Amino acid sequence: MKIRCSKLDALMSCPPSVLDTTAVRIDREEEAATIGKAVHAMAADLIERQAYNVMETAAMFGLDTEQSEEAAALMLYLMRAWDELRRYFPTPRTECGVAAPLSADVELTGTVDLLSPLGETKAVFCDWKTGRVDSNYQHQMAGYAYCLWTILGQPEDGLITGIVVFLRHHYYRVVKYTPAMLRSWHHDLTHNALAAATKFRPGRVCPNCEIYASCQARKAEVTGVVDSVLGRTTGDPKWTTFVDQATGLLANIDADNKHEPAVGDIITTLMTRARLAKEAADDVVALVRDTIRRVGPIDTGEFTTMELATVTMKTLDPVKSLPVLRRHLSDAEICGGMKLSLPQMQSAYAAKKGRGEKVAAKIQIESELDRAGAIVVSLHERMTERLKPQKKEGEDVPGTDGEELGDGDHGAGESA
Ligand code: SF4
Repeated sequence: MKIRCSKLDALMSCPPSVLDTTAVRIDREEEAATIGKAVHAMAADLIERQAYNVMETAAMFGLDTEQSEEAAALMLYLMRAWDELRRYFPTPRTECGVAAPLSADVELTGTVDLLSPLGETKAVFCDWKTGRVDSNYQHQMAGYAYCLWTILGQPEDGLITGIVVFLRHHYYRVVKYTPAMLRSWHHDLTHNALAAATKFRPGRVCPNCEIYASCQARKAEVTGVVDSVLGRTTGDPKWTTFVDQATGLLANIDADNKHEPAVGDIITTLMTRARLAKEAADDVVALVRDTIRRVGPIDTGEFTTMELATVTMKTLDPVKSLPVLRRHLSDAEICGGMKLSLPQMQSAYAAKKGRGEKVAAKIQIESELDRAGAIVVSLHERMTERLKPQKKEGEDVPGTDGEELGDGDHGAGESA
């Protein structure tokens, strides 16, 4: 069996999501993957030929205008990062296939975006990330490092430096892999994931899982949580116990003990299950809607029927309606019924500009509107999970004449 490094994070979170060979698989991230492929192709052109062409690459990968602009914006940060990182890659090679045996019958394979050997026992590699989240990559990176260390003959004085560049988040993270770390990672992978091929672990990876639609473990998880939240005691009592423990714990925390690890674990688990339950509810509504669309209204009782109602919404064409409205209303009264979206106005202005000028145009119109006092800021509460700032430590990259590239996070444009 071959396992791709890009599947390792899913594998470690829930082994059957990768190892179940009988399930029907559906790629749930197709659009983002296409933009990612285009950016990777342009990155290879930039590094090998010192130039890339957005329009040609976009045509090659079938990107529309919006996707091409997204890819071009990602390339802007990639260029800045590469300017800073190129000195650590004395002999850069792009899109390199790597492989290493994990056990007698399992082989790890992958494609490293950028790689440079550093003498006989060391190497540095880089992975461009184009996704919207800057998580779920640690095992993929460790997988590449393990392959490279194995290709070098697993030397005891080996050191593999991995750099993961988050193009949407505008920073990169450096991780150094020693032989001890890689051995321990390999042990964890083979004993806790490969040896648990049928152990389902529903969690935050489910929404992106390729076998999401048919997975019985995820369905059982959702049913258990919904049952226990609704106070039903049927089914496995572990769900009721979990909800009781969670509500009891959250009711009793205060500002002093809120950072206890158990509190963070409970919040993560609750939010993950809430997300899964919401997705399941959305699936149910979509199923009913699709059925009614297909067969027409369905009786739901003696006096009721479920149907798709067509709701008429009337909006005004601003250009045609203004002369009429001005005959009866003041400008202030008209503006009271209007809402202008800043992103839409920025996009409209940027559309008048040429390639390479669009980002500057958006910034320019926003600052003009700001100076005119036209931007109204309102605050809304939204729950969001973000990475805490990481501690930075300076450390030399072997083979680069002592130039420093420390472990931890760096933003291109600032000193590493
Ligand atoms: S849907 Fe969730 S539980 Fe099921 S295989 Fe995928 S990750 Fe595992």
